[in-house]
Amino acid sequence: MTDRVVIHAGVVAGAARTPELRREAIGTLTQVLRELGHAGSAWETATTASCVVTCPDPASAGALALALVGALNLRLARLRVGIDSGYFVTSSDGTLRGAAVDVARDLIAIASDGWIVCTERVAIGAAGVADVRPLGVRRFDPARRPAPLYRLAPRAPRSALDERDPVCARALDPRTAPRLTIGETSHHFCSAACMSAFLARGARA
Ligand SMILES: [Zn+2]
Repeated sequence: MTDRVVIHAGVVAGAARTPELRREAIGTLTQVLRELGHAGSAWETATTASCVVTCPDPASAGALALALVGALNLRLARLRVGIDSGYFVTSSDGTLRGAAVDVARDLIAIASDGWIVCTERVAIGAAGVADVRPLGVRRFDPARRPAPLYRLAPRAPRSALDERDPVCARALDPRTAPRLTIGETSHHFCSAACMSAFLARGARA
């Protein structure tokens, strides 16, 4: 059993509507993964072209997912990505099995084209490389309990003006601090612990 972060990336709908388009999407996905330095297994179902990649931590997973979405957008295919962290095993045929693999796949049902949707532990860990936007507590699979889900988006550049952590009031550099964006407002944090505390406070409000 390995505890890592699982990314499930899928080209769905229009860009995967025929076998030819799905094969093309698989080729593009595999090529982009290789360009980004990852070996990934891509395959097709009747309606999707998908791949699964694992990363050691949420920050590297968030960065890879953003790079994948960006590269696929340039090649005119829109990717939907789900990310979860947890345990999985690698079967003898090389496929990954485990709750994190299933959750990452099911999260794609919440995503729109070009979206990266993830669970809370991933969102907090990726807040230094992505703009984290809460999607609320959502049921993404009838068999699972609703959970707080988040969208990871590219970070818009910020000025170097000081921002303050809303939890501990420390002054921060918004160019590098973990960021959470709710509506039009961005909050910056000194650490994952302060971001977790802020999210817990919001959930109780
Ligand atoms: Zn803090």
